[in-house]
Amino acid sequence: TAGESPKVFVGSIDNGTTSSRFLIFDRAGTPIASHQIEFEQIYPNPGWHEHNPDELVSSVEECIEKACKEFGSQGHSLSDIKVVGITNQRETTVVWDSETGEHLHNAIVWTDTRTASIVRELKARTGAGDLTELCGLPLSTYPSSTKLLWLLRNDDKVKKAYEQGRLAFGTVDAWLVYKLNGGPAKNVFVSDPTNASRTMWMNIHKLEYDEKLISFFELDTKKLHLPKIVPSSDPNAYGQLADGPLKGVKIGGVLGDQSAALVGQCGFSPGRAKNTYGTGCFLLYNVGEKPVISKHGLLATVAYDFRGQNIPPVYALEGSIAVAGSSIKFLMNNLGFFGDSAKVNEVASSVEDNGGCVFVTAFSGLFAPYWIDDAKGTIFGITAHTQKGHIARATLEATCFQTKAILEAMEKDSGHKLEQLAVDGGMSNSDLCMQTQADLIQIPVDRPSSEQISTPPPSPPFSYLCGGRTCLTNPPLRFRRRHLEEFRRAKGDQSRWEDVF
Ligand code: ADP
Repeated sequence: TAGESPKVFVGSIDNGTTSSRFLIFDRAGTPIASHQIEFEQIYPNPGWHEHNPDELVSSVEECIEKACKEFGSQGHSLSDIKVVGITNQRETTVVWDSETGEHLHNAIVWTDTRTASIVRELKARTGAGDLTELCGLPLSTYPSSTKLLWLLRNDDKVKKAYEQGRLAFGTVDAWLVYKLNGGPAKNVFVSDPTNASRTMWMNIHKLEYDEKLISFFELDTKKLHLPKIVPSSDPNAYGQLADGPLKGVKIGGVLGDQSAALVGQCGFSPGRAKNTYGTGCFLLYNVGEKPVISKHGLLATVAYDFRGQNIPPVYALEGSIAVAGSSIKFLMNNLGFFGDSAKVNEVASSVEDNGGCVFVTAFSGLFAPYWIDDAKGTIFGITAHTQKGHIARATLEATCFQTKAILEAMEKDSGHKLEQLAVDGGMSNSDLCMQTQADLIQIPVDRPSSEQISTPPPSPPFSYLCGGRTCLTNPPLRFRRRHLEEFRRAKGDQSRWEDVF
């Protein structure tokens, strides 16, 4: 506001599924300096996905150091960075010893499906049908609760710490806040509702842990340390950085990555929505001050909790797709299609349609709105005609078709049709992907410029128009549809997303 020093900068820690970033923004929200580091993705068994918790912290620390160096070299003073915020991958589960602060197992990542059999067992338990109404989530491999149960059953160190009352659980926000504050010495052990709502232990209506939910999972909170739930933005709850170039700077708040993207897209009023195409793809739809419990396979979640600013907590309906950008990485790392994710657009554009290929990218089962834990990835419709381009195109289309299914479920739950879809995240850089999306859902897709959102794509802003007079790329879509129709008639098999389910 007027009269304040113009030299105020804000730091943002972003720990995603594949990389850590630190960005420094000026008062206008323009990024001034940043650094990004990819960390190791560990896949010990089919369907398993882990991160080293220490690497999550060290990559963040290194990003802070490097971005601060760049900031300083531009002639800025580090003392003008007044506060730091955190946004993070959600559900990913970290366990540590509450006395030493040492982690006890690799973090189990949100995409991990090792808990499929535990989920089947839990679904048969009395009370399973009442969970969603209380916590907003369906029982699946996705939330932290099932991951913690797996750790308690399968890891001796975790079991022992629990029996001795030394087991601390945290989603990545809680782990980062705890470690960046200096660990057990300060013991800042908190989580915000956008993260706590992804555990299945938080009552979504009250934003507090719920005894009924915790006892459903047979957890004893005398043995298990859970982080205190505090508002997403709170100058006194999250402590301060204990080390590094920003030592002593306060952590002002925390938001799970998808909530941060909604806030970054200014999705503050009911009816506003955004779709983030990162490792997975997440459509969040602001439903206002009361949660909407979905009847069509979506999640009820907390969009943000700014009670500190006297704003009541705001909720969202969420459609979660487990695999989006990671399918591009699959083409790159597993199939050797190209050496850089950005190339997918070119390869997919080398053909005029998908040539009859449909890729169901169910590497982590299928999330919303299907919730099929044990689904596996499948490519239909391969012929001798199939080129890399067709498969690349089918890969982009997979996320677009799932987004379409989520939008349809959202319309049924909310009774409201979206007029425009705001997008961001790495995969939204593919123009072909965004155009396909617009064609499929028949509403404009809007990718804002990078300065405006929390997961900035480097591409320029662009609106993908569709429907009626402004439709840009109906021809490729018509070709694809015609081709698939013919293919289906000839083969009588499942070669369209609509038929797969
Ligand atoms: P996260 O925060 O989940 O790590 P990001 O928003 O950083 O995700 O996006 C990374 C993902 O986006 C990667 O899986 C990558 O394959 C994909 N990606 C990055 N750039 C492009 C591009 N130009 N076209 C398509 N996909 C891309």
